[in-house]
Amino acid sequence: VKSFAMKEVGEVGWIEKPKPDCGPYDALIRPLAVAPCTSDIHTVYSGAIGERNNMVLGHEAVGEIVETGDKVEDFAAGDKVIVPAITPDWHSRDIQDRGHQHSGGMLQGFRFANVKDGVFREVFHVNQADLNLAHLSPEISMESALMLTDMVTTGMHGVELAEIGNGDTVVVLGIGPVGLMAIAGAAINGASRIFAVGSRQVCVEAAKRYGMTDHINYRDGDTVEQIMESTDGKEVDCTIVAGGGQDILKQAVELTRPGGTISNLVYFDEGKELPLPRFEWGNGMAHKDIRGGLCPGGRVRMEKLSRLVEYGRLDPSHLITHRLYGLEGIEDAFKLMKEKPRDMIKPVVMV
Ligand code: NDP
Ligand code: ZN
Repeated sequence: VKSFAMKEVGEVGWIEKPKPDCGPYDALIRPLAVAPCTSDIHTVYSGAIGERNNMVLGHEAVGEIVETGDKVEDFAAGDKVIVPAITPDWHSRDIQDRGHQHSGGMLQGFRFANVKDGVFREVFHVNQADLNLAHLSPEISMESALMLTDMVTTGMHGVELAEIGNGDTVVVLGIGPVGLMAIAGAAINGASRIFAVGSRQVCVEAAKRYGMTDHINYRDGDTVEQIMESTDGKEVDCTIVAGGGQDILKQAVELTRPGGTISNLVYFDEGKELPLPRFEWGNGMAHKDIRGGLCPGGRVRMEKLSRLVEYGRLDPSHLITHRLYGLEGIEDAFKLMKEKPRDMIKPVVMV
């Protein structure tokens, strides 16, 4: 079947690959809507997870089931489903001691375009359908559902890792689609003041809509100085890192109070080490907790996030600025993701 793949580090293109087999617990799915992710760009152009040859790309999809294995109970051909970016092996013992994102090894819950072919193809495979798919509710749009698969679950995870609670002050470093969903999650969780750091005007407008109270443009001067000026030198309770370069954790440590929490969502794609500022980290004793994690996947997560949309708490469709059509549209969407035009937040492809 026709597939859009990483041919090798630095090169993408269309290839033909055999239709995947459907195991007894699995499903084969025809994509209805897909989107590229900034992570695909790190994977292809920085070779961040290593060399991959003719690996089909893509991990954000809503689709229609075309075939299920004979052990699948709750799904059948014709069902429209949300396919989370993270589709772990729920039979692995690792689930019990390291979390589903790392079942089968560190980051191995992230299977699409990492350990197996992704969703950018005419038909793709999902393991353990009953645990890795969620029914698409007729109450929510396909576009919103597509944003749940990765952008929403990731942004919300930043909020969960940072343990944001009522009245907390928050900085979100980076306001692409991931940072924007972190802002929305922080607001839902009761954050008071929410600083959003970024420069693209379209993202700033969206940040306002999702709950930003203060905008900081990192291109106008030092981010930490700008924030400290408006807080009279007081650090914030929590910082979520959703953008920036190799040394962005330094700023996060400087911005966060002793006892506060930093959660990282960035997929760092270069360098052997990540720098931390010794003094601001209390010479190692500041109780500034640094956490980082891959977004949760699985059926229940998608069902819960879907309810946030269904009951009007969140409208992730405002992330979508560019729409392409047909399977072939994937190539242009991927190019857009690489180039990041300044009027773009997230492109989607309606297959
Ligand atoms: P984008 O590239 O769309 O957004 C990045 C944001 O960071 C932009 O707002 C950009 O500003 C801002 N930025 C750039 N440099 C700085 C800086 N020096 N200081 C502060 N802000 C800066 O990315 P996405 O939102 O799509 O993804 C964010 C990250 O999350 C990526 O690394 C991605 O790979 C990762 N990711 C992680 C997942 C996980 O499970 N943990 C899942 C999905 C994605 P500007 O307005 O100037 O562009
Ligand atoms: Zn992603």
